[in-house]
Amino acid sequence: MALTISGLSKTYPNGVKALKNLSLTIGNEMFGLLGPNGAGKSSLMRTVATLQDPDSGSIDLDGIDVLNDKTSVRRVLGYLPQEFGVYPKMSALDMLHHLAIMKGIANKTERTQMVDALLNQTNLWSSRKKSLSTYSGGMKQRFGIAQALLANPKLIIVDEPTAGLDPAERNRFLNLLSSIGSNVTVILSTHIVEDVRELCPRMAIIASGEVLLEGAPAEALDALAGKIYSKVVATDDELRALETSFDVISTNLVGGLHEVRIFADTNPGDGFKPVDSDLEDVYFLNLSRHSKN
Ligand code: ADP
Repeated sequence: MALTISGLSKTYPNGVKALKNLSLTIGNEMFGLLGPNGAGKSSLMRTVATLQDPDSGSIDLDGIDVLNDKTSVRRVLGYLPQEFGVYPKMSALDMLHHLAIMKGIANKTERTQMVDALLNQTNLWSSRKKSLSTYSGGMKQRFGIAQALLANPKLIIVDEPTAGLDPAERNRFLNLLSSIGSNVTVILSTHIVEDVRELCPRMAIIASGEVLLEGAPAEALDALAGKIYSKVVATDDELRALETSFDVISTNLVGGLHEVRIFADTNPGDGFKPVDSDLEDVYFLNLSRHSKN
């Protein structure tokens, strides 16, 4: 299944340009859509999920004209929105049956098989009769995946799924995502670089409604190899001095000291040591170049 997004633009009534002539091609894989808050990720995901229309552009999903044939898209789509809304005082078991009926799975035996399999896959079997309103954040997100997987979707969209999860829940959730079959396109929208690093063979970085970079994380890392240098400084003044003379990518506090990472074509000396590039370097460098433009 391939998704081709071409020239998508969207300006909200308040004048915010959320998508600016955005184009992306997404194949049969786990695709990471990485960008800061306000980048336009949800606007893009809601558009692909047929929940809102752009001002211009087109989207093709394996021959389906997404913007004009919404019914066909909804048949093959599983969607876990950023805000899943209120969790009712209904059990996961009952809710999944209810949603499966809404998706047109009328046969009770078929439905029961599907719902039970999903409850097992998402590790919710032992809690299946508990009210959803009592679920932890991680359980709610796993339930979100269970409902998104109803009726064997070909395209799954998960919007910021790990925000607010504790590390153990997040791990569990990412493992669940990675276990989704290979014949499915999964778009993982996130502002967390680690999510993409762990799961996605391809990704795009977006900011202010534009694509800054598209490709394999490994290729993006290679492009920075040998060009990232790091140094630890103690004071804010030293940090500010570095920021005026070098292309600073990020600064992290480590044990009260500032660890500064910079981009440089050649070794800058001055106490800097070469370090391996990581995906955060790719992300922050693209964002800072974009904001300087
Ligand atoms: P992200 O998911 O990357 O955080 P969004 O798509 O939610 O980005 O938002 C992109 C921009 O559009 C932001 O500036 C946001 O405030 C604005 N925006 C999003 N939805 C609406 C809306 N319904 N009306 C007006 N502005 C919106």
